[in-house]
Amino acid sequence: MVNRSFLYIFISVLLVSCADRSSAPRMIPRDDSLEARVEKTLKGMTLEEKVGQMVQLTISVLEDDTHEALDSARMDVIFGKYKIGSILNVMNGRAHTRAQTAAMIREIQEKSMEMIGIPCMYGLDMVHGANYLTDGTIFPHEINIAATFDPAFARRMGEVTAYESRAAMVPWVFTPTVDLGRDPRWPRMFENWGEDAFLASVMAVEETLGLQGDDPNRVDPEHVAANLKCFIAYSMPYTGKDRTPAYIPMHDLREKYFAPFLACFRSGALSLMVNSSSVNGIPLHSDRTLLTGWAKEETLWDGMIVTDWSDLNNLYERDHIAADKREAIQIGVNAGIDMIMEPYDVECCTILADLARTGGIPMSRIDDAVRRILRMKYRAGLFDNPVWDTDSYVRFGCEEFAKSSYRAALESVVLLKNDGALPIAKGRRILVTGPNANSLRTLNGGWSYTWQGEGDSYVPHYNTILEAMCNTFGEDNVIYEPGVTYDLSVNDWKRENKPEIGKAVAAAGRADVILACVGENSYCETTGNIDDLNLSVNQKDLVRALAATGKPVILVLNEGRPRIIGDIEPLVNAVVDIMLPGIFGGDALAALVSGEENFSGKLPFTYSKHINALHTYDYKVQEHREMMDGEYNYDAVMDVQWPFGTGLSYTEYAFTDLKCLGTDPFTADDVLRFSVTVTNTGDRAGREAVLLYSSDLVASIIPDVKRLRAFTKVDLESGESKEVTFEVPASSLAFVGRDGKWRLEEGDFRISCGGLSTLVHCRETKVWASPNKQE
Ligand code: BGC
Repeated sequence: MVNRSFLYIFISVLLVSCADRSSAPRMIPRDDSLEARVEKTLKGMTLEEKVGQMVQLTISVLEDDTHEALDSARMDVIFGKYKIGSILNVMNGRAHTRAQTAAMIREIQEKSMEMIGIPCMYGLDMVHGANYLTDGTIFPHEINIAATFDPAFARRMGEVTAYESRAAMVPWVFTPTVDLGRDPRWPRMFENWGEDAFLASVMAVEETLGLQGDDPNRVDPEHVAANLKCFIAYSMPYTGKDRTPAYIPMHDLREKYFAPFLACFRSGALSLMVNSSSVNGIPLHSDRTLLTGWAKEETLWDGMIVTDWSDLNNLYERDHIAADKREAIQIGVNAGIDMIMEPYDVECCTILADLARTGGIPMSRIDDAVRRILRMKYRAGLFDNPVWDTDSYVRFGCEEFAKSSYRAALESVVLLKNDGALPIAKGRRILVTGPNANSLRTLNGGWSYTWQGEGDSYVPHYNTILEAMCNTFGEDNVIYEPGVTYDLSVNDWKRENKPEIGKAVAAAGRADVILACVGENSYCETTGNIDDLNLSVNQKDLVRALAATGKPVILVLNEGRPRIIGDIEPLVNAVVDIMLPGIFGGDALAALVSGEENFSGKLPFTYSKHINALHTYDYKVQEHREMMDGEYNYDAVMDVQWPFGTGLSYTEYAFTDLKCLGTDPFTADDVLRFSVTVTNTGDRAGREAVLLYSSDLVASIIPDVKRLRAFTKVDLESGESKEVTFEVPASSLAFVGRDGKWRLEEGDFRISCGGLSTLVHCRETKVWASPNKQE
């Protein structure tokens, strides 16, 4: 028998905490008139209509047998009988023009309005610009945008993505991706903003604002609803393989992995997608603590949570935490899932309705989920305008958008090494070689025209590296001999053809300098798993053979993650990491290596040197012997290829005069201000990203060696100096302690910037009672 007095105490604690929460600020301000419309719609709905709204299917269930048109009878079943609330994905698995896409979504919306009276929430993975439109603008991937260290590019990418998506009748995009790219083995690293929680938070917020505009309650016709993904810690699989378990201490989870999500909730992000895998043995799709607790209740975020692809099915088919589909749906929805990306099976609706009828899922939970879905549809403006005039989007695919993508690519490229081989003088003969030299697919990476990124044929008018080099240096000065090529006849991005290294070496004899374009072919998600982080054997052999010719070698890395090159790096004269720079990546690279433009990108991740020593910049002090005294320090060496934040240019910068402007000693309520002077000591203009770090010298858990706390980018003419000032809220120096609570501890902090450092002192410890320092 239940102990009744215990129950009462529990309920009253619950009421007190609810009352507390209702006075806390909401993530998205409440709009009473919008809420009234949501309630009215909800009240008029049958149970069948409600559960239909909670299900998302993929477009292929609506396609006719040609896969290029919708099947009207199937539409009648999906919308008429099952009242499905959302559709995702591209028809026939590939991009179409915006006119074709708009016409298809218009048909769906009209059917949805006719049969349900509620608009359909159509969602697409527009993750780096309008990557699912053959005539849209593709941007560099997030990893590149992070490397610009200029949040204006993240904002711009969001704005252009939103505009061009709306122009194709798409109201909802599955971006930004806000996992932390801390493990280069993981194939989705390029979809994220790199390894640092602060950089990721700043960039993700800017992209969210760019996508949604300033008022999340009224997303206007030039903006779309954003979707944060994949909640949470998807990026740290223990094995390095996609969709495999992560094991992360809860304090780390809150302090680092939750940070970008929280920042985006605060900026009004309207929806959230869940991590396909598990953290600490619990599949995220079943984790009530994280979905309902962290994401919804703690924050008062009233957005909508959607599963990832088929992930409730995974709870029984893969994870064995449910006996069957029914139990999986029950667990997921009770944990906090609002919309199920099913994606094929309408049976899901029948099961959901039955669970609601029999009490397996309380009706209040169903209503809460549907309320969140309707709220998002109202916020996106779909009830007022389920369809719109897409022809009026006259800026679609315009020159100005192309320029933004090009500038983003330009500022994202990172110069890692240069012994003077760069810039290449005009008139020199250049061997352009390597498997990535003449491919648009490799510049764009996955999620480009198709899921896996095989889209070259849709956009022949954009330039590969080879074409851009010919345009910049003149065709007569460029020799092309790839040496190694990818085998495109098989469905395996890793497969290479029999190498023809001898041919490349022979061609090098006719050249003054070699541009060796190596890296990876495009891939996406689990397909991108690898067993060896080294650059491929053939590609390393090619570089070795080319280096042996004695001609200067410029190594161009075109890859979604930092493949290990420790053994070949000493052989080359310059290294340029272009990562996945998008459709203008070839043009940007040519402008940079010719010296027409200057480099300004910096690594948003640590480039590891050894396959058994994968590090991040914010390692624990115990990982590096220079940071400690003691017995066991002999093998603790931090030997990386290039640290986070590395990025050279054609000029040099000197840092002087780092100081704290007042407020030292400080308390948690203070805002610390620092200034530093940056001087361009070289002979040409440049843009320099200035990064400010803090180090907590003694803390009650082992402190990270340093953490990025602020950054900015400055333009400096040759010889020019600028004083840069930073504001750092003292509360942002806090960490999450053993008990899961945020704490800022009394003691010294070292603030460092550009090789300088200064000490500041926190004069009293503060421990926050609320989980996210919100009071
Ligand atoms: C991916 C998500 C994506 C979804 C819908 C999943 O396989 O993990 O990132 O948004 O598919 O396409």
